[in-house]
Amino acid sequence: MKKKIIIIGGLGYIGTELCKIYSGVSWNNKIIVIDNRFFSERVNQLRNWNMEFVHGDILDKELINKHCKDADVVHHLAGITDVPRTKSESNDVRDNKIKLVAEEGTQNILDAISDKCKIVFPSTHVVYEGIEKVKNNITEEEEVRPKLSYSSSKSLNEKQLKNSGKNYIILRLGSVYGYSTDTARIDIMPNLFSKIASQDGTIKLFAGGKQIKSLVPLIDVARCFKQMEESEDISSEIFNLVKDTVTVKEVAEICKKYNPKLILKETNDEVPNLGFSLSNKKILNTGFKFLFSLDQSIEEMISKWSKQNLIKNLEHARGGDNEYIDSRGKISNHELTEPINLIGLIDSKKGTIRANHYHPQQEQKCLFTKGQIIEIFQDILNPNSPKITQVVNEGQLSIIKPNVSHTMVFTKDTTFLNLVRGEREHDNYGITHTIQHVIVDEKEKNLLLSCYKFDCRSCGNINLKRVVSLGYQPLANNLLNKKDEKYEAYPLEMNYCPQCHNCQLSVSVDPKKMFSNYLYTSSTSSSFRNHFIDAAKNYIKHLKLKPKKTYIIDIGSNDGVALKPFKDLGFNKILGIEPAKNLAKLANKNKIKTFNGFFESKNLKKIKRNVDLILASNVFAHSDKLKEMAECMLKMLNKNGTIIIEVQYLLNTLQDLTFDNIYHEHYNYWSLTSLINFFSQFDCTIFKAEKINTHGGSIRVYIKKGKKLKIENNVKTLLKEEEVFGIKEFKTYQDFGEKINKLKENVIKNINIFKKNNKKIIGFGAPAKATTALNFFGISNQIDFIIEDNKLKHNKFIPGVSIPIKDKKNLKEKNVLILVLAWNFYNEIKKNNLSLSNNIISIKDLEK
Ligand SMILES: [Zn+2]
Repeated sequence: MKKKIIIIGGLGYIGTELCKIYSGVSWNNKIIVIDNRFFSERVNQLRNWNMEFVHGDILDKELINKHCKDADVVHHLAGITDVPRTKSESNDVRDNKIKLVAEEGTQNILDAISDKCKIVFPSTHVVYEGIEKVKNNITEEEEVRPKLSYSSSKSLNEKQLKNSGKNYIILRLGSVYGYSTDTARIDIMPNLFSKIASQDGTIKLFAGGKQIKSLVPLIDVARCFKQMEESEDISSEIFNLVKDTVTVKEVAEICKKYNPKLILKETNDEVPNLGFSLSNKKILNTGFKFLFSLDQSIEEMISKWSKQNLIKNLEHARGGDNEYIDSRGKISNHELTEPINLIGLIDSKKGTIRANHYHPQQEQKCLFTKGQIIEIFQDILNPNSPKITQVVNEGQLSIIKPNVSHTMVFTKDTTFLNLVRGEREHDNYGITHTIQHVIVDEKEKNLLLSCYKFDCRSCGNINLKRVVSLGYQPLANNLLNKKDEKYEAYPLEMNYCPQCHNCQLSVSVDPKKMFSNYLYTSSTSSSFRNHFIDAAKNYIKHLKLKPKKTYIIDIGSNDGVALKPFKDLGFNKILGIEPAKNLAKLANKNKIKTFNGFFESKNLKKIKRNVDLILASNVFAHSDKLKEMAECMLKMLNKNGTIIIEVQYLLNTLQDLTFDNIYHEHYNYWSLTSLINFFSQFDCTIFKAEKINTHGGSIRVYIKKGKKLKIENNVKTLLKEEEVFGIKEFKTYQDFGEKINKLKENVIKNINIFKKNNKKIIGFGAPAKATTALNFFGISNQIDFIIEDNKLKHNKFIPGVSIPIKDKKNLKEKNVLILVLAWNFYNEIKKNNLSLSNNIISIKDLEK
């Protein structure tokens, strides 16, 4: 039988959810939604569900009569929800208005409906707010004691319904909590607390949060309304509809469970009234079952509201939510913030390219059902914005803001759905909805296809998350011989692996392009020389190394800086391994025996085995083929030998914002956590870890073969430190990315101030990090030239920004600003060059 069902207040918090439930039966029944508010998208949605929408007020007697007189059911959800919660908030005007809407509105409905019509009405547990002492399990028979206007008007409505002779159901609701896609009610305690938790905020617990609260989940309320409407044997009844009886503190603690960053502060003022609780026995006896829990609702709200932070990004790709997996396969859902009126189904072949355009009005949403792309995008409203790349895999939804130019490079045969809100007439292409804007040409497409990395170098996970993009950049150490010499540029961006917590570059540049002729000589720096002298003495003492016996190799030995101290102390079984021909030659000339080549499987037979000590300083970041490198090390090492790795420490990079450690040579960015995850794949153990000072903060780990080693306490301590810092949380990395972009703005602003005052700026030091920083900041002719102590770099140019590098004798004037780009040697440089200028600052000083 077709029923006529009226939902008054259907655009509200409960009404919205009730309409969703009724959308399943709206083709078999006549459903009319009446509301005095109007949200066009919601109204459209109701009409799409075959529901009629009437824009009107319950105080309009005629309108109510017209629609309700032949109704079978009325859900009466109308009423003012913005009500005073305390005596001090209330005043006569507000109170009278609340009472009028409640009393007159309800009377209009009662006058209109027939005797056989069922009216379902939400009252509130607050009708008991006047109870003086703590009282638990209050039943429906207990006399009501309203105090404020809200509870008074609700109890007045209860009386009207009871005396009307009509078929009523009254549901006395606890505080309704839960996530709603359309109408958020954040003034309700669990919702408010979840909102605060989603923003890492602070919750104040007055009187220690001892007050008792009666709560009920939103969806269960909507379900109960429908069930009451359908249950023909229930008529003219009143029910308490309450699920959870909890203290305020208990709710806050659930929030803390789902976001440990949330801060809870208890105050110890006195509680006027601890509250009361309602019995839900009667409603459970009707067979009604609650399906949702406070815990799960809070988790959902925190996670959904946290995700909304992300949506301000230019672009983001995400997997589906609420996955459901059984033997048939998997369902995953993507919730959209707006309705869609056009779905394009687009097939693309591997190796092709699409888009190179932007949409001035529309958000681009693409759901990838098969294949994979590299997506390239750039904010066209901001001229300084970098070109950013990222991988989107099947099952992911990619969302790009309007006015962001984007291009898709298909790395596999790919199918996706283009989900559009708005018009996409072919005739208007290039005019209204889609404007051509080429950011990737054919040559660049091929470059991306050849160098892009899709899976984690350490663990193989394919869902890597972007931390920061420094734009397209030249290879940092490949200095140019001529100002206008051509150079290759590759995306320079750091990704994070949520599985093993390694950070790494999105592309792999062929190592031969970077390491075959290397201009960086480690021995140039006295602090480096001293570092390795101390290290050698330390290892000799603690590992009990013997000059005539111990066989030591150093991988990536550069000019022999780490082996020279051993040689000076009488060790003669030493071997350097260095891919740069010029450096290997230099080391051999200095009597440090060095093999010229990469440390890889095919070269192993040329190197003597049974090594006692393998050193790998500042090379573990430099390896694209990590597994091969680790396997080679373990093959070469004897049974009791030790591997000592020194590598830049990710924690320092994140903490000190040393983004200029990011360049194409550094494929990987390590923490102890990620190193341990990596080495757990092999038959060996990291048994000792320590922080060291090189390269603006590094970490040194000691490894031996076997799984049953005694692990020193320093490993545990450092792991704990990393965990507290948030090394396993993506948000830590996102914050880093945001701060880097802020820092860029500051540097540009400060450089402009110097130039406005006609200050001549001379750089000092041309390490790789200078190339990264200058290219990222977009600084070129603001700096006249760069002084460098390493003669190999003289008369060359920094790629990308074309700043010349010169010997310091070229600096003739004194009234200049010397900007130290090799900031990790700032103190050393300043001390040795005071005669050049009395104005020597570090580039780090401009970042604030
Ligand atoms: Zn990984």
